[in-house]
Amino acid sequence: MYQEIKITRSSNSRIDTLDFNHIPFGKVFTDHMFVMDYRDGEWVNPEIVPFGMIPTHPGNLAWHYGQAIFEGMKATLSKAGRPLLFRPELHSVRFNDSARRMCMPEVPEAIFIDALKKLIGLDVAWIPPQEGSALYIRPMMYATDESIGVRQSDTYKFIIMLLPVGPYYDHAVKLKADEFYVRAVQGGVGEAKTAGNYAASLLPAKMARAEGYDQVMWLDAIHHKFVQEVGTMNIFFVIGDDVVTPATDGAILKGITRSSVIQVLSDKGYNVVERPVNIDELLLAYQNGDLKEVFGTGTAAVVSPVCLIGYKDQKIELDTDKFVIAPMIKDLINKVRIQEMEDKFNWLVTVE
Ligand SMILES: *Cc1c(COP(=O)(O)O)cnc(C)c1O
Repeated sequence: MYQEIKITRSSNSRIDTLDFNHIPFGKVFTDHMFVMDYRDGEWVNPEIVPFGMIPTHPGNLAWHYGQAIFEGMKATLSKAGRPLLFRPELHSVRFNDSARRMCMPEVPEAIFIDALKKLIGLDVAWIPPQEGSALYIRPMMYATDESIGVRQSDTYKFIIMLLPVGPYYDHAVKLKADEFYVRAVQGGVGEAKTAGNYAASLLPAKMARAEGYDQVMWLDAIHHKFVQEVGTMNIFFVIGDDVVTPATDGAILKGITRSSVIQVLSDKGYNVVERPVNIDELLLAYQNGDLKEVFGTGTAAVVSPVCLIGYKDQKIELDTDKFVIAPMIKDLINKVRIQEMEDKFNWLVTVE
């Protein structure tokens, strides 16, 4: 049985140490965190406690065999100063999709949302009010059985932590279309936000940086031709009058920003097409002058314009100052989040 959340308040808030105008990304955590355990087939001991360390046994299964998943979402402030969550139910659904793939227990949506609301309610003062800033929310779950040997864990920990983040200053990004390394394949775990996917991406990303790129643009694992996505972003191409994004095929993370962008652009009358996108098609469209914009979408940066794609000895170079659609969407989503623009699609959930 799910119990009431027990709350232990921090006696010593660190909020005075935060400079809201200069927040280092990913390094500042709020005063509290939510923690809950899974054992004997049920979630128990839901608690909000002061943010801090969690002692872990060295034989913890998650460290060795990778049963670990996470989500990334944002909260912002309404005009009335109330926290607003951006499409939290979709994040809950995706978290549970990841859990099932990794043989982990699901967290019921009611508990997920209740925990989010109570935790954010307590740390509401940490939500940066500036446009483009937000409270980044990181729910995560990992195996906690203490034993060696590959098998599914019987016990887990679910945690939610909160991090204030400033606006992502968008320098245009340079992508390397990798012809050798791959991120995911149908039947694999590419659709899950699971730790190993990101570990596997580190070496190719490091090699791409050594060649002057910012990130890898992943191609499919079979033909090494069809574009999948980038780092922690999905990708869009404006080709002629169409806005094209790779169709999710079991190997691409189903981004919630991706779905929001498709919704907005379709509503505005753009022809948005989800289909396979071949790198050769992009090179040809570029040569013909039909490739107008390339941009990534994800919770962290919302929209990142792409100024360069390198593939073998070929280069696609784009003047991101001429982009129209990418900055329009970024502005729209950021303004909806702080109620400067109408929330036409009911994306926001208010924390009372
Ligand atoms: C999280 C993530 C995305 C973007 O998803 P959003 O829901 O838009 O934040 C895209 N690709 C990968 C691999 C991701 O981990």
